Order: sequence, then C-alpha cells, then structure tokens
Amino acid sequence: MFKRQILTDCMNPTNKITGKRWSGLLGTTRKARIISAGAIFLAVCAFGAAGVAPLAPDVSDLPVKSVAQDLELPNLADQIAALDQDQQQFIHEERVRPGDTLAALLNRLGVDDPDAVNFIKTDKVAKGVMQLRTGKLVKAQTDANGELQWLHATIVDNLDNPSKQISITRKGDKFIADAAPTKLERRIEMRSRDITSSLYSATDATTDGGKLPDTIVAQIIEMFSTSIDFRSDIKRGDHFNVVYETFWQDGEMVRAGRILAGEFTNRGVTYQSVWFEDPAGKQSGYYTFDGKAVKKSFLKSPLEFSRISSGFSMRVHPISGEWKQHKGIDFAAALGTPIRASGDGVVDFAGVQGGYGNIVVLKHWANYSTAYGHMSRFAPGMRKGVRVHQGDVIGYVGATGWATGPHLHYEFRVAGVAHDPSSLKVLAQDPLNQSEMARFQVAAADMTHRFALLRPSGTAMAAR
Ligand SMILES: [Zn+2]
Repeated sequence: MFKRQILTDCMNPTNKITGKRWSGLLGTTRKARIISAGAIFLAVCAFGAAGVAPLAPDVSDLPVKSVAQDLELPNLADQIAALDQDQQQFIHEERVRPGDTLAALLNRLGVDDPDAVNFIKTDKVAKGVMQLRTGKLVKAQTDANGELQWLHATIVDNLDNPSKQISITRKGDKFIADAAPTKLERRIEMRSRDITSSLYSATDATTDGGKLPDTIVAQIIEMFSTSIDFRSDIKRGDHFNVVYETFWQDGEMVRAGRILAGEFTNRGVTYQSVWFEDPAGKQSGYYTFDGKAVKKSFLKSPLEFSRISSGFSMRVHPISGEWKQHKGIDFAAALGTPIRASGDGVVDFAGVQGGYGNIVVLKHWANYSTAYGHMSRFAPGMRKGVRVHQGDVIGYVGATGWATGPHLHYEFRVAGVAHDPSSLKVLAQDPLNQSEMARFQVAAADMTHRFALLRPSGTAMAAR
C-alpha cells in the first residue's frame, strides 16, 4: 500500500484512471513490465515528471519485490518515454449488449468524454453508432483521461445497404466522422442435415456447425421448389447438403450470402443444383450439375407441331359472339395430337371445368402455373399431386368444352391469373452457350467435390 500511495500523490489529480481499467488491459506479460514501471516512477516523481502514470493494481496481488529486482535501470529516460506513450493509449473492444445505452457502452469502452458523447449524438454519420445491434463490436482508443481518440464500429448491412465502418476521429478538440464501405471476409460453409421431423427442425438444429441462417433456408426452399413441394413432400429420412457463402467481419458473421450448391434427397430421389455466376448477369442462376437451368424456360408450345390459331388478344368469342379478352393461346392441331407439359411441375387439377372441357392445370416453381384445355383425353395417371417433367405427355388435343373444333387452349398463369406468355421475361432464358458451359463445368466440378466430402462413404447418388 505504501507504493500505491506515493504513486497517487505524484499523479495529476484529474487523472481518472482506475485500478479496474488496468485489470482489463494488462496481459500477464505486460503486467510485469508495468509493475517495473511503477518502481521507476517512484524514482522520478521527485523530479516532477508529468503525472500520467495510472494507479498500480493492488499491491497484494502482485509479486512486486521479485519483479523490481529484475529491473534494469541503465536507460531510465527511454523507459519513461516508452511508458508515457504506452500508458496514454487505451484500446478497448466491447460488444453491444442487450438494452445497452450509449452511455453504458462508452463507459465500458473507458470513454469519459462529454464532447465525444455530444458529437456521437448529433453528428449525422457518428449517430450510426447508436443504431448498432446487440453483439456488434465497437473499438475505441482513449487517452489516460478517458478522452476519446478514435472509435470504430461496423454498421451491419442488409441486401440493399452494404455494411460500412463508421470511424470517429479526434482532430484537436473536435471530432470528425466518416463512413466507409467495409471489406467483408467471404467464407464458404457446408452443412449436411438429416430430416427427422420437419425441414425447419433440421435447419434449426445446432449440431454440425449450428443453425442455418434464415436466408439460406429460404433459398433452399426456393432452389428445390421446382422439384419438391415443401409443404407436402418432406419425409423423415430426407437429407440435404448445402454449400453457401457467409460474410464476416471481426470474427462475427455479418450476413449469409448465396447458396452455391445444394442437393436434396426427397423420398429417395436426389435433386442437385449449383449456382452459376454469369459476369454479364444474363445467365446467372441455378443449374443442374449437367448445366440445365433449374428454373428453365417453359416450352414455347406444348404441341410439337402446331400453329397458333388465336393469340392472347381481344377477339369475338367464337361461340358467344361477344368481344372479350382471349386469356390464352389457341394452337390448332389434329384430334389426338399429344400435349406436352411446358415445364416441370405438379398436377394441380385434371378433370372437367366448364368451357375448358377436359383440362389439366400444372403448378410450377414460384407462382407459375399452366393450363391445357379442350383435351380429348388425359394421359394415363394424370391426377392431382402427380409430378411431371417438361415435355411429358399429359393429354391429347380435342374439342371438349366450348370449342368449335379440335385445338389446344393454353394458358400461362402467374398467381392464378392468365398472362400473355410472350410478355414474360422469365420464360426466355436461353441454354448456356459453349463458353458459358465450359465455365459452368469448372464451378460444378468444385461443388461436386465438396458434396463428395459431405456424403457418407458408400452412398451412391440416386438417379433422377
Ligand atoms: Zn382458347
């Protein structure tokens, strides 16, 4: 206690350094050096050295004597200079806690500086610090008096708003603040899960690297919704592997990015999909491992050989004689011509429906559906819930319902409403050309390899 008192006496009385701060800052190796410094200080106090040395920790905690004996004293001035510099800089790192206030956060950061508080509360950029979410890292440097030298914090991005680092810097007795885009570290993560009850219980499981980010779960559903109906098809024993990117800063995940590849085994059938990034943007999307777009374009015509006899336009209805919107496209064809599913999907309806006569409605990915009317008969096995692939025959041209002769009435619906297919961009994706395919294959090979690592040995891929 003797040593401590003397130190206190020769310190600047405005110095607010506390013993607590020291305990936070001192590493075990630094501890010894600081204690030595305390010993030096005893020697220089008498000469009126600036009193900025902090309080030493409680003497009872520390092996003062033995350390003091190790002290070398040949260049006292150098050591004091070094000490001075060292001790005037305090760098703290703190995470925002639930219910934190700016005052509480700054207090933990060792900031005792009303000007800084005022600046953060009023400056347009610096204000961002007050919007930090729980868990976010804040770093600050203060001098020995608790005056803020600088403060860094990262505002987390969302998809519309890239993340940025706010820097508040002291310039004399003023502050400046700026916000610069942050460089996030990109990581590739892999997860492998068995489904025992629901998709969400599998994605929420904290085993194997923890819970999957919500945005990744949404992408899994989106990615396989062309093939799997997640409301009704998911079954115990299903399994999925997923490779996705995450973005990190200061050791914490800022956000999840895109799924780079996924494979989902549903009822014994494995569906795979890999992201292809097209620098031109046009062809970016998910593809099967053999390079076919997952959300592939719909067939322009459900009939192999046909001509459009009536387009999507106003016309006089051939039976009622009234002018009205023709909400579909009529393809003239001989009775019995096979009708093909224009895209992968699930049968939503197969039966008789008013003027449509025999009609099949297919549900596709997103909220797209297609309808095929006036059929003479259905293909075998057409009933609600049956999965069809693009090009599968679903029925045959006829003239059932309100039809003057054999033709197919074809509708392309978005959220249940018929649209003119030629006006929909989504239907126009071209297959990958040769050079795109070459680049795609490199990406796909990398993902195939990653999946091989995730798959239990001896598990073969199910054929689609
Ligand atoms: Zn029609």
